[in-house]
Amino acid sequence: MHQTRQCLQSLLCASLGWGLVAWGSVDADILHRYTIRVDEELNILQVEACFDGVPPRILQTSSDEAQQYLSEFRVVSSGSRLYPDGRYMRLGRLGENACVSYRVDAGAAAQHQKKDEMGLARRVGDDLLVSPQLWFWRPRSLDADTDIEIVFDLPNGVNVSVPWHTVERDGSRVVCHVGHTPYSWSATVAFGDFEVTKISVDNMTLRVAMLDGDRPYDRDKMLRWLHAALENVRGAYGKLPRQEPQVVIVPVGEKGEPVPFGRVIRGGGGAVQFFVDPSYSLQRFTGDWTATHEFSHLLLPFVSRNGAWLSEGLATYYQNVLMARAGEYSEHKAWQKLHEGFQRGIRNTRGDQTLLDASRNMRRDGAYMRVYWTGTAIALLADLELRQRTGGQISLDLAMQRFADCCLPSDKTWQARDVMQRLDQLVGETVFVPLHDRYIESSDFPELHDAYRALGLDVSRDEVSLDDGAPLAALRKAIMTGKTEQLADENSPTISPAP
Ligand SMILES: [Zn+2]
Repeated sequence: MHQTRQCLQSLLCASLGWGLVAWGSVDADILHRYTIRVDEELNILQVEACFDGVPPRILQTSSDEAQQYLSEFRVVSSGSRLYPDGRYMRLGRLGENACVSYRVDAGAAAQHQKKDEMGLARRVGDDLLVSPQLWFWRPRSLDADTDIEIVFDLPNGVNVSVPWHTVERDGSRVVCHVGHTPYSWSATVAFGDFEVTKISVDNMTLRVAMLDGDRPYDRDKMLRWLHAALENVRGAYGKLPRQEPQVVIVPVGEKGEPVPFGRVIRGGGGAVQFFVDPSYSLQRFTGDWTATHEFSHLLLPFVSRNGAWLSEGLATYYQNVLMARAGEYSEHKAWQKLHEGFQRGIRNTRGDQTLLDASRNMRRDGAYMRVYWTGTAIALLADLELRQRTGGQISLDLAMQRFADCCLPSDKTWQARDVMQRLDQLVGETVFVPLHDRYIESSDFPELHDAYRALGLDVSRDEVSLDDGAPLAALRKAIMTGKTEQLADENSPTISPAP
């Protein structure tokens, strides 16, 4: 229904009572239908796409390589063959409700994949991870009243894990609606012999698929770890945003830590991928910060690459704060880890590169520590100033809670400054934008000496000790406990973000 979708894109939804309607469950006026069949060996995807009404003139993928693995593209009614032109497939004028069919050699794509890269397809044991860019030749854009329904018609013993909203899951038939996230946002679909297990905490439901490892592993332990990490993130403001991310667990054999790598991708509604060594104990998993970091990313929408400092900084700040609130870190350990991170950030800061430039070129320049920890410092300074100005009544936590209420889920790319501006509006203060404007064009790491002194973070030979007699010691504890506490001295000097 057109009006409903319009409503969901506006801030009026909550007052109209639509706030509880999950994004993907909205019916579209126009619904194209793709049916995907896969063989038991997970090599070939056979796709039939039937268009609702007038078919698009062009289909596209976002990958130049996809055409290598595409064959037998036909118009179903006439049998006439069509051939791709790079990442485009020109259909010309087809009759109303026409169908096309094609074949995608996912097995070959997986074979050609470089080791340890996701690329278009990757084998994980006997299971298969594929990017929709490999097989999803779809209309170049979808109007707000149009959606695509994908029906997976699976052989016995094969399941599918998707990022999209699933409307039906009935044995070998899985139906989902893809929605309107940009095609350029990464996504992954997994096929294999696994269950899709749901874990819910508050409003968030994880849809977890655990892929095949080189040896059996304790799946119950993995679920307990994910549940604990979600509970940690609930510690930010007592709730979790309404989302149902796909979670894919990829076992990677013996590594030096339980979770060597994790990432959040946003295509189709959001997903978190964890690469794990399942041989570690549950205690080692819950003591690892990676899952808390990744789920903390879901407190914000997708932020443009220029704003990597914001998304990574917020997740890195919260990973430490939330591990402390959960009791996994002592207050001291959390501040020690923040301090060590800030030092890494300072060492990685080049005097001739602005934060904007470092964020934009983070990968090329290896500017990860600079970007992550500058963002973390800005998150700390914002949290501190909000708490100081308001006697602890308003904090970063409250700002994030209000942001989730107003603006999540979101299928657009946000600019960092727009997020900061919205946060200021939501708490009625002017804290975030001045911090943004001060540091975005700066080549310096944020100045933290005054904050350290006020909080009672004494540093000697890189070891932090906590001074409970410091003016903002109560505030310092409040950050790491999540409990509101009155400031020790309401007249204590504020630490201004302005020079
Ligand atoms: Zn991150």
